[in-house]
Amino acid sequence: MGLVLKDCDWIVTQDPQRRILANASVRITDGRIEQVGRVNAASKDEVIDCRRKVLIPGLINTHTHLSMTLFRGYADDLELRDWLENKIWPLESRLTGDMCYQGALLGSLEMTRTGTTCFVDMYFHMEDVARAVDEAGLRAILSPGMIDKPDKTGTEHERQSTLKFLEYIHELHNPLLSFAVGPHAPYTCGPETLLWARDLAEKEDTLVNIHIAETRGEQAQFEKDGKGRVAEYLDRIGFLTNRVLAAHAVWLTKSEVKLFGQKGVRVSHSPVSNMKLASGGTAPVPEMWDAGVPVGLGTDGPASNNGLDMFDTMKMTALVHKNARWDPTIMNAQRVLDMATLDGARCIGREKELGSVEIGKRADLVLVDLRDPNLIPIHRKETVVSDLVYSANGQNVDTTIVDGRPLMVSRRFQKLDQDKIGEEVRSSIGQLIPQ
Ligand SMILES: [Zn+2]
Repeated sequence: MGLVLKDCDWIVTQDPQRRILANASVRITDGRIEQVGRVNAASKDEVIDCRRKVLIPGLINTHTHLSMTLFRGYADDLELRDWLENKIWPLESRLTGDMCYQGALLGSLEMTRTGTTCFVDMYFHMEDVARAVDEAGLRAILSPGMIDKPDKTGTEHERQSTLKFLEYIHELHNPLLSFAVGPHAPYTCGPETLLWARDLAEKEDTLVNIHIAETRGEQAQFEKDGKGRVAEYLDRIGFLTNRVLAAHAVWLTKSEVKLFGQKGVRVSHSPVSNMKLASGGTAPVPEMWDAGVPVGLGTDGPASNNGLDMFDTMKMTALVHKNARWDPTIMNAQRVLDMATLDGARCIGREKELGSVEIGKRADLVLVDLRDPNLIPIHRKETVVSDLVYSANGQNVDTTIVDGRPLMVSRRFQKLDQDKIGEEVRSSIGQLIPQ
């Protein structure tokens, strides 16, 4: 039995020719896309009527901290250091596994609601996060965040937690969930931990998920400490490889960008979080493209965004670069959609499996409702992509499918109970932040 997405007004394929098909359908079997275009549904097939819908590949969020949904709106309008040290870290030290589980369920609901089918996460209590994502049915790469502690025992404990989580992921036997090593940042992890992370990623054939050069202060501190520029330092110690997925990478010089290109480093660009925390500057994404660096998009945690809506991130990405360069052509809608789909897949090494609507790929698919007022009219085929990037938002998503399984159909969640999760998050927050 297959699933047929029948008679979509448009299919934005994201194939190598970036074709947009009109009045077309997709047939899915065993989690893969089997047919695209003209499809005859078999009598046993389940059929979703896609008239007045546009079908796109599921969006890929390459950087987030899912459980931080708990802190949404808790501490806005602060500078990064103040925000972290005085607001976020004190609360995080009191988080329990159960709270992270609730936060991750809420984040999963929001991603399903807004068309994200795959994401890269770093946080604490990752076994509880994995449990939530497993229930939600999303695809994810999960990393327990590691930070060097003042004593050796504490640092060793971080490594043991990572290894324990790796075992947990293997035992879950969920092919949608995988592991990446997560040293938090070069300013919170010394060279020993960074190289330990590099070696573990090599052994497990996976990524190293890390924040690099998020703020100017980080670069200034490295130079003050006599280590030079952050990327140069990381290269000198032998850390930079094509397994590194660098979140932010805002404050890089042209030569650091070239170094990333030479070493095959991938970048997750999170402009909404960067703007909200006033990181200043704008990540040199056009230069990264010139240097051959794959750049995907991320929301970052919902405490510095304040959401997980990748449509919002796509629009902001285009706008921030146009504005910074005084050039409306520097980043067009197609390029931004590429970052949220195909380039995101490249960032996680899954471009053969994800990121486009093509025969043989995994069926991570999203339907956007063209009946919504903000999506009327769609003038012609050539404007569909810019309508998606500039006019749409996550609330226009009607149906979200991961690996051929519908997680939301006609805006109704198929696996998660929105009301129950909402109540449980409110009660977790009541324990964490007494009113
Ligand atoms: Zn982050």
